[in-house]
Amino acid sequence: MPSLASGKPCAICGKPAAEKFRPFCSQRCKDVDLHRWLSGRYAVPAVEAEEDELGLPEPDEPPPPLAPRRRGFD
Ligand SMILES: [Zn+2]
Repeated sequence: MPSLASGKPCAICGKPAAEKFRPFCSQRCKDVDLHRWLSGRYAVPAVEAEEDELGLPEPDEPPPPLAPRRRGFD
């Protein structure tokens, strides 16, 4: 069994993983894995809605950064 220098093969298609996209072989396979992960997460909207009613903190949007003002030039 030959050992690959780059480690594990791509989890999506089984090709040797590329250094740039580890642990995947390409951006495409990386996207495929991401989409799988997201669809698995969003497959349970009912649970998320329930948890929301239990009072989970909502992510607050940070206020816009204040632009520095130079009064001398107003
Ligand atoms: Zn791949």
